[in-house]
Amino acid sequence: MSQLAQQLHHSEIGDILENSMSGKRPGFDECLRLLESGDVHLMGLVGGHLTRKKFGRTASFVNNMILNYTNVCITDCKFCAFYRPPGHDEAYTVSLEQIEARMKAAWEMFGITQVMFQGGHNPKLSIEYYEDAFRMMRKKFPAVGVHALSASEIDTISKVEHTSTKEVLGRLKEAGLQSVPGAGAEILVDSVKKVISPKKISSETWLRIMREAHEMGIPSSATMMYGHVESKKDIAEHFEKIGSLQEQTGGFMAFIPWSFEPNNTQMQREETVRYSAGGTELLKMIAISRIMYDGLIPHIQSSWLTNGVAMAQMALQYGADDFGGTLLGEEVVSCTGARSTELTAPKIIGAVKQIGYGVEERDNFYNVIKTY
Ligand code: SF4
Repeated sequence: MSQLAQQLHHSEIGDILENSMSGKRPGFDECLRLLESGDVHLMGLVGGHLTRKKFGRTASFVNNMILNYTNVCITDCKFCAFYRPPGHDEAYTVSLEQIEARMKAAWEMFGITQVMFQGGHNPKLSIEYYEDAFRMMRKKFPAVGVHALSASEIDTISKVEHTSTKEVLGRLKEAGLQSVPGAGAEILVDSVKKVISPKKISSETWLRIMREAHEMGIPSSATMMYGHVESKKDIAEHFEKIGSLQEQTGGFMAFIPWSFEPNNTQMQREETVRYSAGGTELLKMIAISRIMYDGLIPHIQSSWLTNGVAMAQMALQYGADDFGGTLLGEEVVSCTGARSTELTAPKIIGAVKQIGYGVEERDNFYNVIKTY
């Protein structure tokens, strides 16, 4: 019996892990048992094994920028240190000219292949603002993928325009929207949302907008923000809801679990959450993500942004296959004071090579464009 087989034999979650080694994904109760177990390193051995079976000892990354086009927001999420209410001294909205100038600089200096365009829920911005931005991006920077607007931003535009989210998605796709980031999901359980983001779209609305995007041929990613008021059952529900939509649409390209950063947020001021979840929890979430979505959602991203580069190196060995992006220009997480919030491609390549892995640079759709 191999060492891993022996360890599985003696573990309380051995049956679940043995099943996943032979291609059977855990259900809700089994997911809950994984979340309740402290056998993190064993989960990581299996998560890492499943990942290496598909990707070998190679990790990908995307050379991208984040363009946070406005910090004006009327949704007041208690976990957010980034937004400012309309009329605030520090409120900003980036003009079309500024968007172009920032992209030009990132393109010329770093050769980015993706722009992640995200911002607050600004009621002053009509759909034309986004259409003009996307048209300009596709025309002037055809090699840069437009990965833009979370489900809740799409919902906000539909309210500003008094129209449906389907209509908004259709117009934005026509203008150049190519994929949708998975932000705004947090934990897809409304009792959790009521505490952390009571004015944000419901879980059902998030899932509906993602379904509409997928059915229109706009792929997306999915995220999970853990480490605040959620229970293990809520996390299991989150995994189940995203997995079940993916079984129907196949539109999620990647899943990204990331930990809540409490610094400078209302939740920290109210002492709802004092500390972030930390490294062991990150590794556990990465391993469980791979085990839950093996053969269903192709890519699991390391979340270096909130946990740092060294943890991302570990995450690649616990179930992540994608390092994430260089994130030039990131502003949302930097408002919490979390570490450095941007990397350059050579830094990511170096970090992946340090663990003895090969590196692939990918585009917006996870196609490999260069190997290192
Ligand atoms: S997380 Fe997004 S929607 Fe919530 S307050 Fe911040 S900017 Fe607004």
